[in-house]
Amino acid sequence: MRLTEPATCDTTRAALDDYLRHRLPPGRRRRLVDHVVQCVRCMRVFTDVRESAWTAATPTRAPHVRRTGRPGGPYV
Ligand SMILES: [Zn+2]
Repeated sequence: MRLTEPATCDTTRAALDDYLRHRLPPGRRRRLVDHVVQCVRCMRVFTDVRESAWTAATPTRAPHVRRTGRPGGPYV
């Protein structure tokens, strides 16, 4: 995994599990989020995977984030 390059769909999805388990360093997290909010496909995967792991941090740029209405886990 090359941390210095922009996130791609492959690297984003590969890191998604680590992201949700809070095992990514901050820079890597930011790149992942930056990609997800711009990529409809990864956003779809992300919203499927995250479940309630992430609710408070939904970026305002995200186009179609459906909230479940359930409070999620602790915001990180
Ligand atoms: Zn993508």
